[in-house]
Amino acid sequence: MIEPSTSPVTPVLTKRWLSPNSWTLRTYEQLEGYTALRKALAAHPDQLIELVKSAGLRGRGGAGFPAGVKWSFMPKDPVKPHYLVINADEGEPGTCKDIPLMMADPHSLIEGCIIASYAMRANHCMIYVRGEALHPIRRLNNAVREAYQAGYLGKNILDSGFDLDIVVHAGAGAYICGEETALLDSLEGKRGQPRLKPPFPAAAGLYACPTTVNNVETIASVPFIVNGGADWFRKMGTEKSPGPKIYSISGHVERPGQYEAPLGTTLRGLLELAGGMKDGVPLKFWTPGGSSTPLFTAEHLDVPLDFEGAAEAGSMLGTTAVMVFNETVSVPWAVMKWTQFYEHESCGKCTPCREGTYWLAQVLERMVDGRGTEEDIDTLLDVCDNIFGRSFCALGDGAVSPITSGIKYFREEFLALCEKNKTGEPTLVGAAR
Ligand code: NAD
Ligand code: SF4
Repeated sequence: MIEPSTSPVTPVLTKRWLSPNSWTLRTYEQLEGYTALRKALAAHPDQLIELVKSAGLRGRGGAGFPAGVKWSFMPKDPVKPHYLVINADEGEPGTCKDIPLMMADPHSLIEGCIIASYAMRANHCMIYVRGEALHPIRRLNNAVREAYQAGYLGKNILDSGFDLDIVVHAGAGAYICGEETALLDSLEGKRGQPRLKPPFPAAAGLYACPTTVNNVETIASVPFIVNGGADWFRKMGTEKSPGPKIYSISGHVERPGQYEAPLGTTLRGLLELAGGMKDGVPLKFWTPGGSSTPLFTAEHLDVPLDFEGAAEAGSMLGTTAVMVFNETVSVPWAVMKWTQFYEHESCGKCTPCREGTYWLAQVLERMVDGRGTEEDIDTLLDVCDNIFGRSFCALGDGAVSPITSGIKYFREEFLALCEKNKTGEPTLVGAAR
């Protein structure tokens, strides 16, 4: 039984990461590995769904949809094959939690996959990993092989009568394939573009069969919940956002990396874990959950980083990719770089995002080059307004977040670039580049 953890750092998902050869089956089994699976296979599938529901586990991919509720949408009597698909296409700028998890502790994901598949009556599981992540793909394949050899995968797992096959699938490097329905199209061998929802994947997913798509961290949390119980899990985090979370901290901090802490931890707390601002240069702005989430400033140091806290303060928890920028960074320049990323990654299916991200990038590049005018700020906001809520998938909404929040908090910096254009002075940003 795992002891409840109330310390600011809660080694739950990361507790094995520093053990020697943590990625091997041998180490995993020595450290309680596959004990949850034995318990789970002795339970009824519906009991597991209820357990995950009562633990309040919410999707760790960014949206925070309750995992147990999602599982309960799967039909109880399989007519068609059921699929579990793991979204390991971690691509949101700044996000680096799933890849380290798969590198350090791939068996926790595999054990979670087996338990979740059993609960949802799925006999097929696909782990869709972003194509650039060659090392995690190799490591996962090795771990899957070990699990087959030990009888944790394949036919009649641990004499339970339950069969499961896992396939590790490498994507081809498109950010949009992290969107769950684009990912399903990509798995089917098609060009990855989002599908219209509804139907949601539980009704018609992979090959039009009932499918659940879950994030790596979500599924790796499941064995801990089975072993520790729902009440133990709820002792960490907040009432509506329970449990521990891996925050990936990058940018101007002394020790960037992955830090596990209860949901609701503030940036102030995370900065303490990461050794504070690099060289003591003050904080200027930061993202709570990747570049798709509206920016925060130094005023938001004490915002609780859980799903509700981040939203109430005007942003989103997203992927808990905390990118920290100090006073030396130009906000328009950073916003331009993110916008160029979204322009490049827009899949082109819908007009607001395809054309809008192109225009946003053009206007921002002009401003940063010192050729902008004050009207360009209104143009940016107008184009954002025509993308937000009018795009086919979340990429469009995410693309405008850094721009609207950047202008909200740092309008004077955008204006200053336009003033320099009037006087013919070279821009600071242009000079810095
Ligand atoms: P969403 O809210 O549309 O859906 C979240 C999940 O809940 C999906 O699995 C969806 O099928 C399910 N769902 C939602 N409503 C449902 C309903 N009524 N019935 C059944 N199922 C339902 O969000 P999304 O578009 O899947 O994801 C957006 C998030 O992705 C953003 O918040 C962003 O932070 C995150 N994101 C993550 C990465 C990454 O690298 N991890 C990259 C880009 C974006
Ligand atoms: Fe494609 Fe962008 Fe439209 Fe999403 S919002 S479907 S990424 S064009």
